[in-house]
Amino acid sequence: MSELLRDPVAFTVLAGLLGLFVGSFLNVVIHRLPKMMERDWHAQAAELRGEDAPASERFNLATPRSRCPHCGHQITLLENIPLLSYLMLRGRCGHCGAGISKRYPTVEVISAVLSAFAAWHFGFGAAAAGALLFVWAMVALTFIDLDTQLLPDDLTLPLLWLGLAFNLGTTYTELPSAVIGAMAGYLALWGVFWLFKLATGKEGMGYGDFKLLAAIGAWLGWQLLPLTILLSSLVGAVVGIALIVLGRHGRNAPIPFGPYLAAAGLIALFWGNWITERYLGLL
Ligand SMILES: [Zn+2]
Repeated sequence: MSELLRDPVAFTVLAGLLGLFVGSFLNVVIHRLPKMMERDWHAQAAELRGEDAPASERFNLATPRSRCPHCGHQITLLENIPLLSYLMLRGRCGHCGAGISKRYPTVEVISAVLSAFAAWHFGFGAAAAGALLFVWAMVALTFIDLDTQLLPDDLTLPLLWLGLAFNLGTTYTELPSAVIGAMAGYLALWGVFWLFKLATGKEGMGYGDFKLLAAIGAWLGWQLLPLTILLSSLVGAVVGIALIVLGRHGRNAPIPFGPYLAAAGLIALFWGNWITERYLGLL
């Protein structure tokens, strides 16, 4: 098995397949984690008011089993194969024929492609294993933020600790850089948040954004934070202008920042050192 994993092509293909199945699980996380948080808040609010917690059936990542939102038909194992089932069912529920959201295969394909690329880029080893976890977290955070304008602590905080843990062995950067990266990442956006709030009276981003940049700093080190912020602003500006030009987005509607941070974090993970060296070489 390890012989096979050391072969770059085999490792890339296997990681892509793994990414496809994990992508299917990420769909569940994206769909359910915000709902689980909302249930928690309601239960806590009821407790504070001295009421009994609202009775509810168990709801977590594993239960209940997925159902067609249209007819309630329980998705069978055969209908749950990533991408393949969607293609074989031609994007329709096998029971009632209602359309299945393109979101599901999209997330699966994005996860598969990024996973394959991470394996190809880093080769078999700890760096590739960490990169896969990083990629999956970024995909989940991106879509949750797009849907709900939230970046759950349940994802950002473990991601931060995991980054520090990987760098105990200097996987991406030295541990001191990672620790400073986590602190500086949080403080940088916290500072921007308050400056923006004092200047405009508006809140331009949320605390989840600070924690996400802190996590990225913990993975990649403080050295890559300026690049990450620069890239996220660039990606944000390009997408924002495109959406306004296409008339898909009002000028004043809030645009979640998390997806741009996540995209920038991925670019920095794969090419950050290369870009920084190039860029510093010019100075
Ligand atoms: Zn159905």
